[in-house]
Amino acid sequence: MKLAIASGKGGTGKTTVAVNLAALLAARGHQVTLADCDVEEPNAHLFLPVEWKTREQCTLPVPKVNETLCLGAACRRCVDACRFKALAFMGDAVLDFPDLCHGCGLCALVCPTGAMTYATRLVGEVRGGIARIRPAMGASADRVNMADRTGRPDRAPDLPATAPVLRFRDGVLRIGEAMATPLIKAVKDMPPPAVPPGAPSAQGPCAFVIRDCPPGVACAAINAVHDADLLLLVAEPSPFGLHDLRLAVGLARHLRLSHAVVLNRAGMGLPSAPSSAEAAGIPAGDPVQDWTAREGVPLLGVIPFSRAAAECGATGSLVHDAAPEVRAAYAGLADALENLARVAKPVTAPMVTDDPAATTSAKERTCDR
Ligand code: SF4
Ligand code: SF4
Repeated sequence: MKLAIASGKGGTGKTTVAVNLAALLAARGHQVTLADCDVEEPNAHLFLPVEWKTREQCTLPVPKVNETLCLGAACRRCVDACRFKALAFMGDAVLDFPDLCHGCGLCALVCPTGAMTYATRLVGEVRGGIARIRPAMGASADRVNMADRTGRPDRAPDLPATAPVLRFRDGVLRIGEAMATPLIKAVKDMPPPAVPPGAPSAQGPCAFVIRDCPPGVACAAINAVHDADLLLLVAEPSPFGLHDLRLAVGLARHLRLSHAVVLNRAGMGLPSAPSSAEAAGIPAGDPVQDWTAREGVPLLGVIPFSRAAAECGATGSLVHDAAPEVRAAYAGLADALENLARVAKPVTAPMVTDDPAATTSAKERTCDR
């Protein structure tokens, strides 16, 4: 099941929900791939002990004019065709501006002499790896996770080979690069990294590909969510959160995507913020829950505000086990996703690629336009 986790606005806890759901589902033994598609600001890896296996440079084809074949001002077809103003005439010569090029290829199609060739522009880097997950350990898990994170963030904790594993991939956009979509597509298309033999999640009952999507409703978010089986919109209980949630639901309806809402930090800012499992139900007067009920948008989960979870998250730790009410909320969400995954069409990418000899590699790939 391809699950896109998105939000209308930034700061709602989208990455927190994505990472913790991925870890919880992997700890339950499912096959889980977490793809951080927020390539302008990838941060999901900060919450997981990722062992990087692959790194690839992503490039985009950009035009380069062969002056000996170019007909010059007598032609101009390429300049007139480029709607992004990445080509211009200066005197009798075609000038190219690679940073403005979207790599659509139209200029080469219209060139009558084959003078338009291509060079490459670096867009960014995609990375893949695995993260071993500590199985849920009850009330002490928050302290354990904190200990993992306050040491070496890039080092896997000392867990046995049979510990659950989730596959991880993300993309890092080159500083100054304006086009995120080719890199997001590369992150989505990247083959799953190898998983050590014997890890429970290599053979789990359900397969999840969880995407942590860019915020907003612009091109980058659309590219990340458009082919998902379920779009999970993370909202915060505030008027601003509701405003941007409505935009995101509008996008989901426009794209005809199955969608549901998760309310994060429910009760935050209210005088009687819930502090226990009993109080963590539906806070009266919450604008997001009122609106979803009126609009008939499914509310798949309500994660209560918890100071313990906030402290956990601030140290870069997983929060799904940080407090009883948070644990119950994430467990309910994972149960719901398991039920949905049993009826969703299977993930097409191969999920089991055991490769004991997997090592870190670096290469280059050309991004799809
Ligand atoms: S590839 Fe497309 S965007 Fe780039 S210069 Fe040619 S026509 Fe313009
Ligand atoms: S379309 Fe080809 S021949 Fe015509 S101006 Fe452009 S590069 Fe030169």
